[in-house]
Amino acid sequence: MDILVLSLFPEMFAGPMSQSIMKKARDKGLIHFEAMDYRPYATSKHKNVDDIPYGGGAGMVLKPEPIFSALEDRIGDPAQFPGKIILMSPQGRPFTQEMANSLSRETQLVFVCGHYEGFDERIRALAHEEISIGDYVLTGGELPAMVVIDAVCRLLPGVLGEAGSHEADSFSDGLLEHPHYTRPRVFRGREVPEVLLSGNHECIRKWRRKEALRRTWLRRRDLLKTLPLTKEDQKFLEEIHREEEENTTGK
Ligand code: SAM
Repeated sequence: MDILVLSLFPEMFAGPMSQSIMKKARDKGLIHFEAMDYRPYATSKHKNVDDIPYGGGAGMVLKPEPIFSALEDRIGDPAQFPGKIILMSPQGRPFTQEMANSLSRETQLVFVCGHYEGFDERIRALAHEEISIGDYVLTGGELPAMVVIDAVCRLLPGVLGEAGSHEADSFSDGLLEHPHYTRPRVFRGREVPEVLLSGNHECIRKWRRKEALRRTWLRRRDLLKTLPLTKEDQKFLEEIHREEEENTTGK
């Protein structure tokens, strides 16, 4: 996958993109990544990329020319671009695992990172999509772009060591993931659930499914509203309701 980022602070990407799994993916040639500074495309003597807002008010607004010129220089006519151009914005569509899945099927992604008070409204015309990473405001689009890039890249074939190791992740099947345990078997008096040591794959599958349902029911009940539940899931949920009720009433 080819990933291009337009940013005023491209050095911010150096750390996350050159460590751990992202580094390996780049070394293996699975991702080609470039962070490009759009400041050199400013036309003024002092290379100003922002200006005061028409109508007055606080803060500076990103000018359209540097971003349009940088993008056109790099990809040609944006209307002919075969990939996706994404504008990072707190006003965008809230980012989800489903969106990460869909973006991972693209071959070329461009991320445009804003800064300061915001960007000139006409910059929106460049983007196929606006993405927000949550209902809070950061100083720039760099951290949000890194979040999206990381979530997308780990879904690309060959990026994670063990094939399919993201398939049980939280949200992949609409649920939070089941709990995990590793050695030692007993840690400070707390034991690994017996079933995980049993070697019985069917019992382990059922335990994991039930605990994923329990965790989702306890922490993110909203996710269960739209999830198609099997007969087995419904039975597990009834058991969970009973067990949790007994826990709280101390029975
Ligand atoms: N005044 C803008 C508003 O209220 O929508 C916020 C501007 S913010 C300080 C500067 C830039 O950071 C934005 O243009 C965007 O690129 C990025 N940004 C901030 N919060 C974000 C979020 N939650 N998701 C995605 N991008 C964000």
